[in-house]
Amino acid sequence: MSEEAWPYAADSDPASLDAASADFGHLIRRRPAAVCRPGSAQDVAAAVRWAAGRRMPVAARGQGHSVYGRAQAGGGLVIDMSELGAVHAVEADRVTAGGGATWRSVLDAALPHGLTPPVLTDYLDLSVGGSVSAGGVGGMTFRHGFQSCNVVELEVVTGEGEIVTCSASTHAGLFDAVRAGLSQYGIITRAVLRLVRAPELVRLHTLFYPDHRAMTADQRRLLSTGRVDYLEGAIRPHPPGWQHVIEAGVWHAADSPPDDDETLAGLSDLRARAESVDLPYPELFRRLSKLESSLRAAGTWHDPHPWLHSFIPDASADDLVAELLTDLRQEDLGEFGRLLLYPIHPGRARTPLMRLPEGEVAFLCGFVRFPADDPSLTDRLVKANRTAYDRIRAVGGHLYPVSAVALTQADWKDHYGPWWPAVENAKARFDPRHLLTPGQGMFPDSP
Ligand SMILES: Cc1cc2nc3c(=O)[nH]c(=O)nc-3n(C[C@H](O)[C@H](O)[C@H](O)COP(=O)(O)OP(=O)(O)OC[C@H]3O[C@@H](n4cnc5c(N)ncnc54)[C@H](O)[C@@H]3O)c2cc1C
Repeated sequence: MSEEAWPYAADSDPASLDAASADFGHLIRRRPAAVCRPGSAQDVAAAVRWAAGRRMPVAARGQGHSVYGRAQAGGGLVIDMSELGAVHAVEADRVTAGGGATWRSVLDAALPHGLTPPVLTDYLDLSVGGSVSAGGVGGMTFRHGFQSCNVVELEVVTGEGEIVTCSASTHAGLFDAVRAGLSQYGIITRAVLRLVRAPELVRLHTLFYPDHRAMTADQRRLLSTGRVDYLEGAIRPHPPGWQHVIEAGVWHAADSPPDDDETLAGLSDLRARAESVDLPYPELFRRLSKLESSLRAAGTWHDPHPWLHSFIPDASADDLVAELLTDLRQEDLGEFGRLLLYPIHPGRARTPLMRLPEGEVAFLCGFVRFPADDPSLTDRLVKANRTAYDRIRAVGGHLYPVSAVALTQADWKDHYGPWWPAVENAKARFDPRHLLTPGQGMFPDSP
């Protein structure tokens, strides 16, 4: 790699450095030496080479929704991807977007063509580069896999500062490393994303259960019948106890409403409490924006967020959730928090570096915490995340690494198991100086 002069001045004004020192988690702060906002892949490549010449760590920053400093680079260079946020051509089955584009802008561009990404996250203000680097899970994952499974092609700037276009057939090694690769091998500057027909309406059923075992039993039933297009679930604080809820959606057009009796046949929910509504399809993904507005209005959006996400095997899911609930206090989630339980089919994932449990079915198990802003509570919850993670992996579960858990290289070796040598090889090939994304703690030592 040749070190070259970077023609774009790095921004080191205090406001930019402050902004790049924080993230949504508000748990970790690392101040970079410089921040830049490149407008092209060539600029990103020049920035990486510039940092390499100074042996500076580098982290891309999308929308800053990491919860544990993963988009930070202490003493290094943060590459703010917001200038690469455009959505370009929408074609019959795909759309091209900048790595810094949000899923909201991708959906907004696709919908006028009657199209949608097959998998959307619950919250649309995440960047394409940020979520494809993590995986990207939502209510359509049980059918279509992760967002990272629905990528046609990527343009990537490697840790060597080279621009490479990769896909399943060209530079497949890089394509497989970058998707859910936790930003260890390259920065995504452009993505070609799969699109499918968007439904007009969603019949959304909200189903209530007396406990989580009844809830997961019906999630399994709904998976096996294939009658729904969208499937999530959550355990929410409902003082003095918990509320167990499935959200199941059926795509349809206004002139052909679905048969609710058929959809809900054989389920064991508390039917008198069930709610069924028709929503325009985009509204399904705007619900979290409403929560965001409430939290911003209450001044709590910027409080600490010690979230923990994992994938747990079906065979131990019910007992494990019972165990996790025993230790969980309502204040640990807060009024707006929840324990997510989304069923998925691990076999439908087509992203090699996504670590998932064995078996036909697994569950995303996610502690979405909005606790009070109290340092001792925050500290306890970060420790509780570690305890929960250790239990989860003891039963064959895996971390979804968008979580507030400090990980050592030994943890990463354990996380990847038999894949660790492939991870090391990919790092040696695509980021041999270990510049990229130090916040994961995966390769803490310089080679
Ligand atoms: C409110 C909220 C809701 C969420 N909902 C979901 C959900 O429904 N499903 C889900 O799967 N996850 C969800 N997440 C987690 C989220 O997917 C990840 O935190 C994601 O990485 C955030 O993207 P971002 O652009 O905001 O990331 P940032 O914090 O900016 O970056 C996250 C990581 O990606 C890297 N990165 C950023 N841009 C690029 C790029 N262009 N190329 C390579 N690496 C890059 C960063 O260096 C960092 O390591 C949610 C998080 C929050 C805070």
